[in-house]
Formats: sequence, structure tokens, C-alpha cells
Amino acid sequence: MRRAIVMGGSFAGLLAARVVSEFVDEVVILEPDELLGAGLGRGAPHRQQLHALLSMGHAQLERWFPGITRNLLTAGAQVGTGDAVQFYVDGTLKPPVPDSLMIGATRPLIENHVRQRVVGLPNVVWRVGLATGIRFTGSRVSGVRFTTRDGHSSVRAADCELGADLVVDAMGRASRLSSWLDDTGWDAPPVDRMRIDLGYATATFHRPASQPPPAVIAHSTPGPASAYQPTICEPGALAAVEGNRWSVVLAGYADYRPSADPDEFLARMRRCVAPIRSVANECVMDGDVHTFHFRESQRRNFMDLARFPGGLVAVGDSVASVNPIYGQGLTLAALQASSLFAHLRSGVSPHQAAWGYFRRAGVVVDAAWQVSATADLAQPHVKGPSPRGYRLLRWAGDKITAASVIDPLVNKAFMDVVHMREHPRALTRPSLLLRAARATVRPPRVRATPPLT
Ligand SMILES: Cc1cc2nc3c(=O)[nH]c(=O)nc-3n(C[C@H](O)[C@H](O)[C@H](O)COP(=O)(O)OP(=O)(O)OC[C@H]3O[C@@H](n4cnc5c(N)ncnc54)[C@H](O)[C@@H]3O)c2cc1C
Repeated sequence: MRRAIVMGGSFAGLLAARVVSEFVDEVVILEPDELLGAGLGRGAPHRQQLHALLSMGHAQLERWFPGITRNLLTAGAQVGTGDAVQFYVDGTLKPPVPDSLMIGATRPLIENHVRQRVVGLPNVVWRVGLATGIRFTGSRVSGVRFTTRDGHSSVRAADCELGADLVVDAMGRASRLSSWLDDTGWDAPPVDRMRIDLGYATATFHRPASQPPPAVIAHSTPGPASAYQPTICEPGALAAVEGNRWSVVLAGYADYRPSADPDEFLARMRRCVAPIRSVANECVMDGDVHTFHFRESQRRNFMDLARFPGGLVAVGDSVASVNPIYGQGLTLAALQASSLFAHLRSGVSPHQAAWGYFRRAGVVVDAAWQVSATADLAQPHVKGPSPRGYRLLRWAGDKITAASVIDPLVNKAFMDVVHMREHPRALTRPSLLLRAARATVRPPRVRATPPLT
């Protein structure tokens, strides 16, 4: 291939550009935000929220950018292993998973390191521009139309067109690819939507050097549909990040979404598990509370289409954007990039419809959707649609979750799914379910957080 164009220069676009760079003379990344400096841009406001990188995502990052963990640590990122990575379910600390590792870093730090590595490749070009459409030659996509104007300013646009052998949609969940397809006589992929109405809020705190840097993730069952305030403790996550800071995220559904009020944020932190409570009591908040409203999970089902143009693929949130509480988005984007690599390496012509890519990527998208949709459907305000195999997964998931706070081996199997190292159907293995059943009939010996007073 002579040229590939990646529309969108955020996490998924960067990973896609990295893998595609092995097969083309030139990769052009088209992104309206000038992200090469220190700015956060405006195209992905969720960058300000705490992002957890799952184990599989970390492994994929090291695969495509060897040594990146070392670079992140040099830049101040923290690493938590073993006991320092703590998962709670409804206030109860789960057994540690010995090989667990979590990088504590803000999303901008991770993304900027990835961006520097990608734009440092000799055949990658970064262009500030807003994609406005795709060009066709017969039944394949052969280029992109774009404006050179910053997508958010009122400066007059200069319309441009650039030819390509392969075009990658990495424009996030608001991607306009579907309407472009529709406008040009192609079918748009059918979309699954699951309304979850989730509120997120992230704040940072000064972290004294004496405080150990654990990563804490606490999931809590929301209360009844009328209140949503969890009865045992608030859900939230805490990570030691660069700049000697703690990053804390709180979440709540429907009417119980957290606001940007710092006092309310601190009050909620004091109803969280002990490590998060300590930060509220001992550390000083640094800056504002940033909120985000995530209305629904969505995925575009490209494999359900009868025909699709050649020379075109989609990655990241433009394909699937699932409940962020499970921390899957970055890892999903990295696994899709690896699927794209496998597809291109198989030697197929990029000018043909990329069914091989969509089939491969569909396996990981399906797994991520199953994990988030199955857990979300347990909540009274989430109505569906149910994913394939929902009843079995839900039944197995409930048994495994209950046993995972007691039995380290069951917890390891559970966390392998959470970290996307295993497909969720691994949780339906009869031997694991039997072990889970045995674990839950024995009296638990676990460390529990005292109930809220
Ligand atoms: C509140 C919240 C918390 C999250 N927490 C986690 C977490 O803990 N762990 C995790 O792994 N994931 C998390 N996620 C998910 C993760 O943020 C996304 O999966 C990830 O950002 C997807 O990257 P992307 O590149 O596909 O899309 P985005 O990051 O949304 O980027 C899309 C890019 O496309 C550009 N663009 C848009 N239109 C055009 C156009 N016309 N032309 C060119 N470029 C365009 C935008 O400017 C932007 O840069 C969270 C998401 C949210 C909302």
C-alpha cells in the first residue's frame, strides 16, 4: 500500500497507525485537535477521567511500543503489583492476584507517550484536520475529504482531499462514518444501544511521598431504583499517578450521579472503602472535580452487513464504547489494532472488504460487550437488549463473583476475564463453577470493610 489515512488521532487511531505503518509507505493521521503539545484537546473530553489500563492492554502496549512502561515510570507513573492492587466488591477486599500489575498514570501521560512514539515513526505524518467525508472508486474507499480548519474554530475552512489505499475510522463514538455510508448508497451498520445513565467524576489530590502507591478499584451494587445510593459503600477507584498525586474517580447511576461540587465529592469519598476514605481525610485536593455523563453503551455491528466497501475499517469507540466502569476501552482499542495487524499480515488486498478484520475484532468486541452488558443488566434501570448467552453468563457470573471474594483460584479466573486475558465464557467452565459452589458453602475468611455508619 502506498498510503493509509487514520481519521482520529486519539488512543485507537494511534494504535491503528502503529500497526498499519508496517504495511504502507505513508500513514497520515488526521485529527482536528492539535494534540502534539501539552493540551488535552476538545474531541475526547473523557481524557480528564481516571483511566485504568487492564493487564491485557498493558501487554499490548509493550508489544507495539517496547520499553514504554519504563518510559512511563521515568515520567513519574507508578506501578502497583500483588497486594498493592486491591479490588473490593461491596466493601469486601478480594484475595490478591499474585501476577497482577497496574500502571498508575493519567490518560494524557499514557496517550502522549504513545503519540510521541507513533509520530516518531519515519512514515507517519500528523495532520491537523477534520475528516468530512470519504471518496469512492467503484466499490472501494479511495480517499478522505477533510478541512484544514481546526474543527472547533470559526476560521474559514480549506477543503482538501487525499487519496489512500486504506482508510481507518478512529473518530470515537460520535463517528459520522455511518451517515457517510448511508449518503453514498451503502448500508450503515446496525447499532446496539444499552441505556445505562452513568455519571463519573474525577479529582486529583497531593500525595505525600510517604504514602504507598496502591491501585484500588471498588465496585458496589447500587441501591434500589428509587435511590441508587449504594447501601454498603460508594463505588470508586484510586490510583497513584505521576506528579506525586492521587487520582480518584467516583461513579453513580441515574439520579445518583456525582456532581462537580468538591464538598460533595469529599463526602462521597468518606463513604468509600478505607484507602479512598484516607485520601479524603489526609490529602489536599488539587484543582477541580471533572464530571462526565455516559448515557449509553453502544456498538456498531459491521459483521451484520451484507456488503461493505473495500479499503475501509473502523477501530476503537467508533465500533464499540462500553460502560467505562469496567475499564475496557483502551484495551479493546489495542486488541482491535492487533486484529488489524493479523488481518493485513494475512496478505489480503486492502482494496477488498475487510471481513477478516471485522471477524477477528468482533471476538474481542463481543467479549467486552458481554462483560459490561451482563453486569449492567443486573441493575433495575437497565432494560436491555440482553447479549447472547446472557442467562448462563449472568448465573455463572453471580456464582463466580460471590466465590471470588473467598477463593484465590476462582478470583484469579475472574480477574483474568476482568483484565481481558480470558474470554468471559471461561467463567462457565464446569470445574470452575464446581469450585465456586464449594467455596461459597464454606464460611468466608475475608478482610471486610466495616459498614458505613
Ligand atoms: C468517563 C470515561 C472513563 C473511561 N475510563 C476508562 C478506563 O478506565 N479504562 C479504559 O481502558 N477505558 C476507559 N474509557 C474508555 C476510553 O476512554 C475509550 O475507549 C477511548 O477513548 C477510545 O479511544 P478512541 O480513539 O476510539 O476514541 P476517542 O478517545 O473518543 O477519540 C476520538 C478522536 O477522534 C477525533 N475526531 C472526531 N471527529 C473527527 C473527524 N471528523 N476527523 C478526524 N478526527 C476526528 C477526536 O478529536 C478524538 O481525538 C473511559 C471512557 C469514559 C467516557
